[in-house]
Amino acid sequence: MVKHFEPSCPKCSRRFHVHHEDLRHAHVKLLCPYCGEQFFVDQSASVVEYDGTLSNPRQESGSK
Ligand SMILES: [Zn+2]
Repeated sequence: MVKHFEPSCPKCSRRFHVHHEDLRHAHVKLLCPYCGEQFFVDQSASVVEYDGTLSNPRQESGSK
């Protein structure tokens, strides 16, 4: 089973599938298929995890 997650683009706010779980916590930039924006997962306003839960990377990092 291929795990994936859905980040939302910080530029156009559209959500898209990423089929590589390795990218979830890696410090590599994701490429938005809609506007071409490149951004880190931490810059996404919200992320739907592969199990359907919603997380907010920016809130998590800001509370610590
Ligand atoms: Zn975008």
